[in-house]
Amino acid sequence: MVPTIAATDAPCSALSVIYTEEGMFESYQFPPSPNMVIVDTAIVAKAPTRLLVSGMGDALATWFEAEACSRTKSANMPGGVATEAALALARLCYDQLIEYGYEAKIACDADAVTPALERIVEANTLLSGIGFESGGLAAAHSIHNGMTAIEEMHHMYHGEKVSFGTLTQLVLQDSPREVLEEVLDFCVSVGLPITFAQLGLKEPSRDKIMAAATMATAPGETIHNLPWKVTAEDVADAMMAADALGREWL
Ligand SMILES: [Zn+2]
Repeated sequence: MVPTIAATDAPCSALSVIYTEEGMFESYQFPPSPNMVIVDTAIVAKAPTRLLVSGMGDALATWFEAEACSRTKSANMPGGVATEAALALARLCYDQLIEYGYEAKIACDADAVTPALERIVEANTLLSGIGFESGGLAAAHSIHNGMTAIEEMHHMYHGEKVSFGTLTQLVLQDSPREVLEEVLDFCVSVGLPITFAQLGLKEPSRDKIMAAATMATAPGETIHNLPWKVTAEDVADAMMAADALGREWL
């Protein structure tokens, strides 16, 4: 695998996400793991910054989803249970984003390769890849999948929707205020969306949000790795509250 952007953690995983022609989530496929992943950071630095930032949005979910799975001993992507090593890499992924994400974004704006940019390319690609595959997914990615049902958001990238899914997961699982604030602050600093309007949905009706929440809670979705029975109503409420929180924060 020779990715020329660091916009998702897909290159290091044995997982392909299949979408319909319209951009709606369809299914997961499990091809063999790559033998080698080579990333030239000089190429990544010259790619649009929005793609690197989107990769940070994808990586932002990794720790919170792996942590949720570890609490419930839920299966990771190959069907095993997370090791402490996988959890440590998922946590390192999050810490690197918080510490170096903003500097990496600025370096990317200048098409410059810096140590911060190198760290974020590693976090987006390798740490997040191992972190989600060996740690497991939970609500953030299910909510992303649900949001693909909203036409107004079709132009947004995977990681941009995943980061809003992360914010929603934090609301849903009643995370402490300081965690929410750290995530909101990070998103604003690098330019990740924290409201429906920023995701392209100017008039969020309950029906549209419920359609996404229903898809997010479909049988087999990883949101069911959370430690209680999650309903579509719960998810719709958490999405509305996350949006309100984002607007308030801005
Ligand atoms: Zn992802």
